[in-house]
Amino acid sequence: MLPRLDCIAAIATAPGRGGIGVVRVSGGNIALLISEILGKRLSPRCAIYSSFLDSQKQTIDQGIAVFFPAPHSYTGEDVLELQGHGGPAILQIVLQRCLESGARIAQPGEFTQRAFLNGKMDLAQAESVADLIDATSSQAARSAMRSLQGDFSKAIQKLVNQLIHLRMLVEAMLDFPEEELDSTDIFQRNTQLDGLLGELKKILSLAQQGSLLREGAHIVLVGQPNVGKSSLLNRLSGEEVALVSEIPGTTRDVIRQAIQIEGIPFHIIDTAGLRESQDSIELMGIARTHSMLEKADAILVILDARSHISEQDKKILEKLPQGIPRLYIFNKVDLINQSPRVDENEYHIYLSAKTGMGLELLRERLLSLVGWHQEAGVYMARERHLQALQDAKSILETATGELSRVELFAENLRMAQEKLSLITGEFSSDDLLGEIFSRFCIGK
Ligand code: GDP
Repeated sequence: MLPRLDCIAAIATAPGRGGIGVVRVSGGNIALLISEILGKRLSPRCAIYSSFLDSQKQTIDQGIAVFFPAPHSYTGEDVLELQGHGGPAILQIVLQRCLESGARIAQPGEFTQRAFLNGKMDLAQAESVADLIDATSSQAARSAMRSLQGDFSKAIQKLVNQLIHLRMLVEAMLDFPEEELDSTDIFQRNTQLDGLLGELKKILSLAQQGSLLREGAHIVLVGQPNVGKSSLLNRLSGEEVALVSEIPGTTRDVIRQAIQIEGIPFHIIDTAGLRESQDSIELMGIARTHSMLEKADAILVILDARSHISEQDKKILEKLPQGIPRLYIFNKVDLINQSPRVDENEYHIYLSAKTGMGLELLRERLLSLVGWHQEAGVYMARERHLQALQDAKSILETATGELSRVELFAENLRMAQEKLSLITGEFSSDDLLGEIFSRFCIGK
């Protein structure tokens, strides 16, 4: 337990009108605050219907109050929840009353930060609280919930325990350097390390899938004016976001649209046509297109199925950055009476943005292009988790070459353990905590 921290309060429900609104209070001298606002004592974890009083003992709202004494609360501290009417003005009045009675307004994520500091959850679980709230698909919500329940943390902890076991074996050898290393030792170490690496790769793959659910992929559409980029974007998103017209050069700036395919967020960016232009505004759009392309996870090159790949298209292709996966979309198959299909090792897709024929093929290809293969037990992971897992993996791979050099081997194991412990927050700097919790909403 931390030394008792000051009393914080915030509106925990979303802004706007609702049936019920909750003000949450944690830490400090809550007993005093309770007697001031409710005029009575509360039994632990019992919901009671009560008036919420102002300093003149006048009723400002009526609702349910619940008191969760430490440590059996979300934050691990004494917590009070006031569930009143869910209007913005009334909630502000109740919050204000809490502030008058000794609380201060909570920072974003401060309740969860206290839960972490009090050992109610580790850092990966705390992050999954925000991910659960931010989840935009049921798949993302489910995988965030799994992380919140500790599945990801347990998998990491299991790896750390295996590492500790191996380190103990190896460090015992460092303590008795006069003993000869024999091949059984090396074999034993190798087998354990192999097992560890295999386990780590499995977790990394599940975390990569989770990261896709969280971050999604950036897809840029390029192609000559009038090939149907805006029409395709509209089709994919199911609404009119980009202006479709028959005048070349209509899409002068970058238009972004977030869509979901099987719960994966795709940030689709429709760009200015990449043609030679004198128009200065259009030129600016073209320059921005190039900068979006550099950062894309995949590029969709839109072509006209009637002309296949024209000289103009070749000029565009020459300008595309290398090394970014591409799909070639041959659009307008309805005009040549062809059926939609996938060709050329699945990199060529024939479809019609106008009629929607072949869109399913494109959606499937997009999912496999970004590496989504729906696996059971996906962990909601963030970039920093992936980085830590990847670092640990490459350190352990280096260790496989050091099996007979006990000191180096031991050092690699130590470093890998440190990397993994970053995920659950065993070693975490104040900067990292500040960065993580400041992105939470207030009241969480
Ligand atoms: P952009 O300049 O590449 O964004 O092209 P638009 O999406 O604005 O489309 C240009 C024109 O082509 C519009 O008249 C669209 O209706 C038409 N178009 C787009 N896709 C198709 C398609 O698959 N079939 C047919 N027949 N017309 C299409």
